[in-house]
Amino acid sequence: MISEEGKLYLIPTPIGNLGDITFRAVELLRSVDLVLAEDTRHTGKLLQHLGIETRLSSFHQHNEHQKVDGVIRRIQEGASIAYCSDAGTPGISDPGFLLVRACVEAEVRVECLPGPTAFVPSLVASGLPCDRFVFEGFLPPKKGRTRRLEELANETRTMIFYESPYKLLKTIDQLIGLFGEDRQFCIARELSKLHEEFIRGSGAELRMKIQKVTLKGEFVIIAEGKK
Ligand code: SAM
Repeated sequence: MISEEGKLYLIPTPIGNLGDITFRAVELLRSVDLVLAEDTRHTGKLLQHLGIETRLSSFHQHNEHQKVDGVIRRIQEGASIAYCSDAGTPGISDPGFLLVRACVEAEVRVECLPGPTAFVPSLVASGLPCDRFVFEGFLPPKKGRTRRLEELANETRTMIFYESPYKLLKTIDQLIGLFGEDRQFCIARELSKLHEEFIRGSGAELRMKIQKVTLKGEFVIIAEGKK
């Protein structure tokens, strides 16, 4: 049964610059009955910055299975509930999928606000084709990693990868090794923050360039598809 009032709102939050929160996100965070958060301390700081006092409750990969039925029941009873991950759009390499799927299955209304995410600005500013692309998110940490990359070596669309600073060099090295030194890449670093930077070039050029830059912060890697 679809409730008249209740709804789940997925609320994207800034990936660096707090000014990137939208007016509608602020209004909703203020007016919903409850904000569920991947990390209540993290989202609590954002709400405090925005002067919002809505009740917060944790909802993350370690308690989502226990909590999901209760959340759905509350929405069916008419509550409006927002969900925020730590940064960017929930469900995009972040928790959120399980909750959305359960709501859809229970015919509970779901809305995701348009808003911050790291992959769109990285792709669009990379200078690589953005008419057709694949979002790969994080590569498998160990098992299946090389196989995944080998499968992607023949992909013709632009590819998007998320990576932590600790694995960036290794991943770049693997990508260039399997995709070839002529393939174009872009590393988008610290988007919307003080040290935002784009490092662009062929695999061979990138190997030279990354020796000279600070590999601290957050990164998105964009790889050209096979010609
Ligand atoms: N939900 C987020 C989104 O919508 O983009 C992604 C969360 S995922 C746990 C974190 C990864 O996103 C980082 O390791 C990095 O690859 C990317 N990322 C997040 N913020 C970024 C930023 N400001 N600059 C570059 N990459 C960022």
